[in-house]
Amino acid sequence: MTAEHILRIPLADLSAIRITCKQPSCGRSAEMSVRDAATTYYECKCPFCGGPILPPRSTKEANPFGRLLAAWRAFEEAKGEVDVEFVIKTEPAT
Ligand SMILES: [Zn+2]
Repeated sequence: MTAEHILRIPLADLSAIRITCKQPSCGRSAEMSVRDAATTYYECKCPFCGGPILPPRSTKEANPFGRLLAAWRAFEEAKGEVDVEFVIKTEPAT
């Protein structure tokens, strides 16, 4: 039997997301708030190399980072009615 280790991270404790460009000549990462990601990646291009990181979107609402920000805000506004946590499985300590 193996014990399962998990982390439960409340939405409010997630202050930043990490985004890594997978263009072969780049590979750089950036950590920022969801709000800043919605702005920085508005055109779905890597801020370092300018390469596409997602198919281009025509509106802020269609941009995946904008949608993530909208969902984030909706959960924040509903915190009186619901708690949202992200559950992460981890390897047991040896
Ligand atoms: Zn890049």
